[in-house]
Amino acid sequence: MNKSLNEADPQMVEAMLQDLDRLQNSLTLIPSENYTSKAVMQAQASILANKYAEGYPAARYYNGCQFVDRAESLAIERAKRLFGAEHVNVQPHAGNLANMAVYYALLEPGDTILSMKLDHGGHLSHGLPQNFSGRYYNIVPYGVDAETERVNMNTIAELAKEHRPKLIVVGASAYPRWFDFAQWREIADAVGAYLLADIAHIAGLIAADVHPDPVPYCDVITTTTHKTLRGPRGAIIMCRKQFAEAIDRAVFPGIQGGPFMHTIAAKGVAFKEAMEPAFKKYQNQIVKNAKALAEGLSENGFHLVTGGTDNHLMLIDLTATYEQLSGRQAADHLEEAGIIVNKNTIPFDKRSATTTSGIRLGTPMVSARGMKEEEMKLVADFISETLQKRKSSKAKQRVREKVRELCQQFPIYEDLNLWS
Ligand SMILES: *Cc1c(COP(=O)(O)O)cnc(C)c1O
Repeated sequence: MNKSLNEADPQMVEAMLQDLDRLQNSLTLIPSENYTSKAVMQAQASILANKYAEGYPAARYYNGCQFVDRAESLAIERAKRLFGAEHVNVQPHAGNLANMAVYYALLEPGDTILSMKLDHGGHLSHGLPQNFSGRYYNIVPYGVDAETERVNMNTIAELAKEHRPKLIVVGASAYPRWFDFAQWREIADAVGAYLLADIAHIAGLIAADVHPDPVPYCDVITTTTHKTLRGPRGAIIMCRKQFAEAIDRAVFPGIQGGPFMHTIAAKGVAFKEAMEPAFKKYQNQIVKNAKALAEGLSENGFHLVTGGTDNHLMLIDLTATYEQLSGRQAADHLEEAGIIVNKNTIPFDKRSATTTSGIRLGTPMVSARGMKEEEMKLVADFISETLQKRKSSKAKQRVREKVRELCQQFPIYEDLNLWS
């Protein structure tokens, strides 16, 4: 029973080491991905994984919880300080579940939610028909303006007046511009709706003050902890005091059972890291790098949705340069060159969500590795070269070598020794 993982299960270790090698030697430009610090990873692999702790600190349904109570209270206090939130629930296992808990707390089945269309950048938990959200609630979707490719606040106000939603969701998975939360508050107030900001993608930017702050304007805020925030895979819910009890009851016993105490400890470690000056510098660099990558891509002739980015991500509209090339094909060509991106629909896409006419790119992971604007220019050129010469395997292999060389200058987890 005391064997190390290496001895106990070399097959599993092999898969892990292969993925570490893949990460190390390729450029991950998927904007929702990141890699945690060693400290966060150690917390996730800790003893706290074993404890059942249904309930909340000092109010558990299990005995023996005094030390996990300490860990959860630390995580809560740090999250409150980091974001300036009145109340925080650190138990949601994932972003989808955090949103589910909010709907469960504030709505009845059949109530109306005003939220962003998926193919314009929204998330599946904002109303995809196959997701619980689309099945149990009446979804009124908003999109972006055809001309500007940005959200038009007059359109949102009109939709809200017409449909009188009980909840308005502001937030997206593929929107490259800022949200002006004060304006969303005005619209919510005008129709008596609750306002939820889903900041899954931009939480790190917000924590570091490089994106407008939703906390003063929103009733409830959900975020994942593993994207720009660089914590473990999971989520948190922040809310005003008046919603605290309803939110806590919705998470447990509403939609979850026992919390993952090891993950909660790791969230606490990540929040501590996010309060250090280096984190602010890191988030600033994410944004600078995104701007540099966007500029480099534009210089290479690509059309970016909205023409650029204010945050950590951008969308290439392939129809403007390579009409025959779908997002799926482009992403596959780029993977051959060691560049990992998502296919993604663009606003008013004529292709389906599985084919798409766009690709989505972001800079959280390459910035965490220490890459700067200069490297982003190189990456833009690599992307351009790969797509231009996509019919030549040799050309893609040549880019692959250049990608590998660049990656070797920016190592991930130099001394990671958790598995031996
Ligand atoms: C990623 C994301 C989520 C959900 O996260 P999971 O942890 O994958 O369930 C929710 N909302 C938005 C806007 C996201 O981008």
